[in-house]
Amino acid sequence: MVNTNYFHKGCSDLFQSKTKQNGFISRWPNWIGYVAVGWSLLYGFMHVYWLLGGKGYPFKQGDMGLFGAMITHFPSKVGGAFITILCFLGIFVGFIMQKKKREFVSSGLLLFYAWGVSFVFIFLTSDISLIMVMAYAFLFEFTFDWGMINQLICIIGALFWILAAISFQRRSRNACEFCGRNKEDLEPFVLVRWGRWLTIVAALAPVPYAITRFAWALHIPLGVSRKALQELSNINPMANLTEWVFGFLCIGGGILTLGLIQRWGEIFPVWFPFIGGKRVPIMLAVVPALIVAIAVTIAGFVFTFGFLAITLHLAPINNIVLGQIYGAVGPMIFWVPWGLTLGLSAIAYYYRRRGGCTYCG
Ligand SMILES: [Zn+2]
Repeated sequence: MVNTNYFHKGCSDLFQSKTKQNGFISRWPNWIGYVAVGWSLLYGFMHVYWLLGGKGYPFKQGDMGLFGAMITHFPSKVGGAFITILCFLGIFVGFIMQKKKREFVSSGLLLFYAWGVSFVFIFLTSDISLIMVMAYAFLFEFTFDWGMINQLICIIGALFWILAAISFQRRSRNACEFCGRNKEDLEPFVLVRWGRWLTIVAALAPVPYAITRFAWALHIPLGVSRKALQELSNINPMANLTEWVFGFLCIGGGILTLGLIQRWGEIFPVWFPFIGGKRVPIMLAVVPALIVAIAVTIAGFVFTFGFLAITLHLAPINNIVLGQIYGAVGPMIFWVPWGLTLGLSAIAYYYRRRGGCTYCG
């Protein structure tokens, strides 16, 4: 029997004494709202500068065309004004959320803002370049520009807002802010129960993409015309190598993903040099999985938008990739489910393996 009385009465004293012992990072629920406010203030002022004619506005319609960030499909003044207003609203919302003073604003409205702004700064301000940079790094090609730095700034801001929302929600349902556990809730976290299935879907979702690229590498025009396949390899002399590498990255990624539910994902196999038999550090699996998950989901979102725009005849076909949309972009329809299930699998793995909480015990 869990002594809930003890928990509710004693927890605030317990929190205070234990909070002092732990590091600054692990006390994130105490300051995350202010960090979200600080980020919103800075990024809001950057957009004021651009609205006033400053150089470097990052969301211009560029070479990416249909595969650019959603916000680039709007005129720069409109996009800039939207982001400025959103950021300055965040200053108030963040303070109210952190100060727990929600008498005059409903908590539903605060959460709507926090999750909404996270959506905007993950999905509307990013294009496919993050996943491209990650993939091309395996071909030893590195490109990085201001546009990408700006996208990273946006994603980091969104993560601040997601964490602020999570800590606010935990507080609202009387759970521990630091770990989300509620002593009255005896069922394991829902993601832990679904972890197996989520992981299997995440491992299989990249397979259609890999199959098309392997086919192309073997000169089989799967999903595209033979002429287009020839043209694609004429444009890019590295096409064949790229197809092999990207195909194997997807298959390799899928196999690694299975580690999130396999024993070798928790303890290194004994034949591993030096580290065989040791525990796999939780973050060694979680952090790369989440980074890939975010980049894949974003790219999948943009590709799905482009795929629908072309197949529903809402946009003109003005290049060879758009002309061969089923084979070239079709497999990326699975990328949003891939990214989402990969992210959720990583979170499930974390929740399954994490130890006790240093705050609520
Ligand atoms: Zn806790």
